[in-house]
Amino acid sequence: MPRPRIVKETRRPVEEREPPRASTLKPHEWLSEESLTEYNEVVDSGGIFDIYLSSVAERKIKAHAVNEAPNRLEVMGFMLGEVRRWKGRIYSLVRDIVTTHLKSSSSKVRFDPEAFPNLFHGLDDSGFDYILVGWYHSHPGHTCFLSRTDLETQRSIFDQPYHSALVIDPITRDIKTFKLSETGYEEVAFAVYEPEVGSKAKAKRSRKLKVKPSS
Ligand SMILES: [Zn+2]
Repeated sequence: MPRPRIVKETRRPVEEREPPRASTLKPHEWLSEESLTEYNEVVDSGGIFDIYLSSVAERKIKAHAVNEAPNRLEVMGFMLGEVRRWKGRIYSLVRDIVTTHLKSSSSKVRFDPEAFPNLFHGLDDSGFDYILVGWYHSHPGHTCFLSRTDLETQRSIFDQPYHSALVIDPITRDIKTFKLSETGYEEVAFAVYEPEVGSKAKAKRSRKLKVKPSS
């Protein structure tokens, strides 16, 4: 099995950088009342979320889950991004996702060993220097939690403090993020952020604007 580029994560230093600005954040529209309360507490206290999910990744995850929902099929993929530190706290940014066609049923989706090369190939193709910050999968119609198998997956593959598991239920419209804890796992708060246009992209755009006829 080919080694993925994600092994870089162990060598890559954690960047000290401020999380996305509050003005770019929003709660996911499918948050439960309880999760929304958690979200608001973090925002109101000026705190740092465990996970910042880009609107790009959010749309892809939702579309993936929703597309297979009529067949009650679970979907699964990796979350790619960056790990950063701010004010002594580690947080992760999910910039994009990668997935592949998976054999799944309505009640279980596994990291099928046969699917790994495809997923890793997808990572190589992504052309990003991102690291693996977690995984997502759907529970169509049976709410968001980590099953025993999910927990085993988390413990064996996603055992770093910044690794998270996102579970989405496209039928009941629920979404939650989890991390390992002393007792098993716990829900952590996440925010959806709208990526700000980078300086490079801005420069490109303004150059384009300049060549536009001014009539
Ligand atoms: Zn599950």
